[in-house]
Amino acid sequence: MADQKPILISGAGLSGLLLAHSLKSKNIPFLIFERDESIAARAQGYRLRISSDGINALKEVLTEAEYNHLQQGTSQTGGGGIHNLDAVSGEPAPSKPGEGGGKGPGLGGDVLGVSRGWLRQCLFEGQEDAIQWDKKAVGYSVSNSGVKLKFADGSESSEGSLLIGADGPQSAITKQLTDGKVRAYDTGARMIHGQTPARAYRGLGDGDGGTLGLITNVRPGSLEDGDVELGWVFVGSPGAFALPEDQLYGVGKVAADLSRRLTANWHEKFHPIFEQQNDAEAAFLKMWTAHPDGIPEWSNDPRVTIMGDSCHTTTPAGGVGANIALRDAAFIGRLLGQAGGWREGLTSEYEKEMRVYASENVKMSFETASQRFNITDLK
Ligand SMILES: Cc1cc2nc3c(=O)[nH]c(=O)nc-3n(C[C@H](O)[C@H](O)[C@H](O)COP(=O)(O)OP(=O)(O)OC[C@H]3O[C@@H](n4cnc5c(N)ncnc54)[C@H](O)[C@@H]3O)c2cc1C
Repeated sequence: MADQKPILISGAGLSGLLLAHSLKSKNIPFLIFERDESIAARAQGYRLRISSDGINALKEVLTEAEYNHLQQGTSQTGGGGIHNLDAVSGEPAPSKPGEGGGKGPGLGGDVLGVSRGWLRQCLFEGQEDAIQWDKKAVGYSVSNSGVKLKFADGSESSEGSLLIGADGPQSAITKQLTDGKVRAYDTGARMIHGQTPARAYRGLGDGDGGTLGLITNVRPGSLEDGDVELGWVFVGSPGAFALPEDQLYGVGKVAADLSRRLTANWHEKFHPIFEQQNDAEAAFLKMWTAHPDGIPEWSNDPRVTIMGDSCHTTTPAGGVGANIALRDAAFIGRLLGQAGGWREGLTSEYEKEMRVYASENVKMSFETASQRFNITDLK
């Protein structure tokens, strides 16, 4: 009989929560630990493009009713492709390398546009009682009988049969498991993502922005309801902007004000987007990537593995990070379901297959980003 100690999941983000759904449906006990104090602790602003990998994973794990509920808050992507406008003149500008001759990656086909906040909220529903908040994972200990997670507050979890790190690019679990072989590299590019009511985009028409650029997801029809908030991502090539002391994150007004300062000399038709944004939703991020040469091998531990951005963070270009994170979660859930819980060999089976599809996606995303945002070095 499979080990019935709980599966320990570090990180209640997209992949952690989808895995929780999968385990719950198979009656496999689990515990989730999250660094944040609550679901609402941080702006979750940006829009995600979920394509076949992500859709297949969601459909595999969620019930039909749960998937339909999720779908109600999504938009079908499509439309006329990418349109570039020059930031200073406001006039149409030619497409850049990596933009596929004016057609965005994945436009059309089976693709969902979804705000990260809505997707996380849907995945959170039903898991409320399983999550322990304010539990920042800092490492783990393995014994013959199981694994325990250690937290920044000095406490540790009860013993689990398997630990899965799903806690993003700075994961302490990744560092310990892979002895530093897997890590996120700083591309030097910086981003602010924000949300602004649709009416503020009307001066631009239905349609993207070297050194500083603004990417919106405005599609035909989406400007009709002026109150709906549409997401945007403002990207700076390496060296273009940063937070004081090169801080990792900046959320809320600090990020909103930075976006206004950086675009003060842009054409006036862009100003409403920055002036009318919802300041609380603005967030500054560094652009990270796993190494584009592929996910390295590490000495397998049958009791510990990693998924999502903690293993293979991708740049936002190409829209694949969440897709492969969800794919990992569905895959691990399937393997655990087939065995009725943890078994020897499960983590190596998962890692072998994941390394192949994740490496392909990281490479594609990095190549797209390096062309679009002039990335030359990784740190
Ligand atoms: C601007 C932008 C646009 C993007 N667009 C797309 C897109 O269109 N399509 C796409 O597929 N992907 C996109 N991505 C990538 C996607 O958001 C990520 O790949 C995805 O969220 C990864 O999911 P995850 O479960 O690995 O991590 P997350 O969803 O980030 O969850 C990690 C969780 O772990 C928690 N955590 C962190 N540290 C600890 C700790 N020490 N202990 C405990 N908990 C911790 C965090 O608070 C968080 O809740 C985009 C990313 C950005 C930044």
